[in-house]
Amino acid sequence: MIDESRVVYTTCPLCEATCGLELTMRGDQVEKVRGDDADVFSRGFICPKGASLGQLDADPDRLRSPRVRRDGKLVPATWAEAFSAAHTGLTRVIEAHGRDAVALYLGNPTVHTLAGGLYVGTLRKALGSRNVYTASTLDQMPKHVACGYLFGSVLAIPVPDIDRTDFLLILGADPHSSNGSLWTAPDLPGRLRAVRARGGRVVVVDPRRSRTAKAADRHVPIRPGTDVFLLLGMVHELFSADLVTPGGLAEHVNGVDDVRALVAPFAPESVAPRCGVDAATIRELAHELAAAPRAAAYGRIGTTTVEYGTVTSWLVDVLNVLTGNLDRAGGAMFPMPANGHRGRGNGPGFQIGRWRSRVRDLPEVAGEFPAVTLADEIETAGEGQVRALITFAGNPASSVPNADRLDRAISTLDFMVSVDPYVNETTRHADVILPPPPHSQQAHFDLSFYYFAVRNVANFSSPATPLPAEMRDECEIVLRLAAIVAGLGAEAGVDALAEDELRQAVQRVNADTASPVFGRDPEVLRSELTGDSAAERQLDLRLRTGPYGDWFGEVPQGLSLAVLRANPHGVDLGPLQPRIPEVLRTRSGLIELCPEPIAEEVRRLSQVPLPRDHEFVVVGRRHLRSNNSWMHNVPTLVKGKPLCTVVVNSTDARRLGLVSGGLARVTSRVGQVELTVEVTEDIAPGVVSIPHGWGHDLPGVELTVAREHAGVNTNRLTDDLRLDPLSGTAVLNGVPVDIEPVSTSEGT
Ligand code: SF4
Repeated sequence: MIDESRVVYTTCPLCEATCGLELTMRGDQVEKVRGDDADVFSRGFICPKGASLGQLDADPDRLRSPRVRRDGKLVPATWAEAFSAAHTGLTRVIEAHGRDAVALYLGNPTVHTLAGGLYVGTLRKALGSRNVYTASTLDQMPKHVACGYLFGSVLAIPVPDIDRTDFLLILGADPHSSNGSLWTAPDLPGRLRAVRARGGRVVVVDPRRSRTAKAADRHVPIRPGTDVFLLLGMVHELFSADLVTPGGLAEHVNGVDDVRALVAPFAPESVAPRCGVDAATIRELAHELAAAPRAAAYGRIGTTTVEYGTVTSWLVDVLNVLTGNLDRAGGAMFPMPANGHRGRGNGPGFQIGRWRSRVRDLPEVAGEFPAVTLADEIETAGEGQVRALITFAGNPASSVPNADRLDRAISTLDFMVSVDPYVNETTRHADVILPPPPHSQQAHFDLSFYYFAVRNVANFSSPATPLPAEMRDECEIVLRLAAIVAGLGAEAGVDALAEDELRQAVQRVNADTASPVFGRDPEVLRSELTGDSAAERQLDLRLRTGPYGDWFGEVPQGLSLAVLRANPHGVDLGPLQPRIPEVLRTRSGLIELCPEPIAEEVRRLSQVPLPRDHEFVVVGRRHLRSNNSWMHNVPTLVKGKPLCTVVVNSTDARRLGLVSGGLARVTSRVGQVELTVEVTEDIAPGVVSIPHGWGHDLPGVELTVAREHAGVNTNRLTDDLRLDPLSGTAVLNGVPVDIEPVSTSEGT
């Protein structure tokens, strides 16, 4: 009965916290959203974004059928017409110019869906293009690279064991607004409060007195982009004050003395003028970290989207290692996800630059090129020039530095396909848009974020409501695109393709000598898998052969998809456990504390000149009600005073004649924006802050609510020539700008 409501449970896919949600459904509509009190991980916590899930699903601007460009306009089309158009356009480009002529761009929500986690790899492989770009090089890639060098795997990222720690040093992160990133923990603000309530301390290093900094025991302001110098000074102090105590880790670490020699030029007195933190404070932080019984250092966006992001990310874990806090309860620990697997304690190691980009000669990192060079690859003629683009849940025309340039470049492409629910700043240029279903119509398991969770948990949810006839499952969309670029045509049997993927996955675990089902009959294994789709059976395979799996009957109480179905509030797999040496994938089987590519960067750092006085730099900020560029069309998330403002220190404002509510012009090497001023004491002089993800008033964008709250795109200021050389990650924080008032006589 359409009038009867029912309650179902799901995991929020909107950020990395993986909160459990209780959805009250009426018919196929989400009527109410609450935090799931019984969720084993989030215990009822919910934020305003999660509470808006129903509005997001029912957004009238959300596409429910494909669009195809005809006579210059994006018009509704059937799925058959859309896939046929995608086939014609992509095949034409591949046949005429080769596979590298088609670029693939993957946005952040890719890692929040089963289709993204299971089948985007299939699409990448089928496409066979070197021109792969993702939002990682606008975000967290430095951490992957640093951990790749240190531990041998880009996924071996330690997270602060917040529920058992005594001291947390947080750099460039604002979990009170973003709820954590590469640190999956529902209700991080509550967990931070608990640290203090049990007598621990929280110290926040940030150019802004963020919400997290205000709630901490101590806020240490710093010059944007210079955390690397603060951390070098701290490591120097650990050595010079004889505070290096790796403890039980010592036998697993290579290169401690090399780090000692490397940081010798970076005494606190010498780095203080560079980072704007005085030497005494640098020493205090080092001593406090070393003295705490259980402590962890954590760095995020303000330490990654900067010029020395990889070195900074490396230093965060160098501190954790040298103080003996890596891999121990209350320190920085490696989660063990249910869909992961235990390793052998060594592996092939990590490297970058297996191939290089055509125009700027930038190294490949984790199989992709930096997003900042996509415009170069589109604009520059020659063999391998990008002439077509597939975007998946991405908005590069908004998210990439020097956005105006990339936007123009995208508009010149021969062909473009987007898998996206909206006509946004990027997809307005597409020839075909293929909309995935909303969250409530999809099965969900967080394949990515349990890798960073502060407690080992697992939670699966079936679709809350069946897929309506006019929609297509996201797995089918991705696999059909994969079939098209593989040359199988627009009407290939994707069910057979999905089954083939599953068969290959079974064969892989069956052939892996470390797998618990090594040598078992693959056909028998496959027949025992359960799930309503091939994707769910893939998930079942991962769970059953994973560290907590039932190993197909060998472990009677073990995990499987059936067990997760029977536990709609999730399964708690316990607190984090030490994983060294098993987690290591380095060739040596040791933590490589002083990898040469990073050491080379550190040596270069000693030559870096002091920053110029009085120069303004722009940094980003996150609001609790905003998440990148795609949630500004939800009325409850954009109501109230504008979120897209430029925040300026009161001393600077007085000097420049800027007033709260007035208009300022901000100019960088690449562009200029005008936006409303907010004067505050909560930001360091010389620093201004503008949030990212705004600027929704471009022609053709079909986001009715977002257009009314358009804001400006800060990536019209950020510079595509500035990047962290080791990871290719864009410099989004610490970009030099000028700021001036816009007088009313100029028509404002
Ligand atoms: S914190 Fe993240 S996961 Fe939790 S409700 Fe909010 S958006 Fe969803």
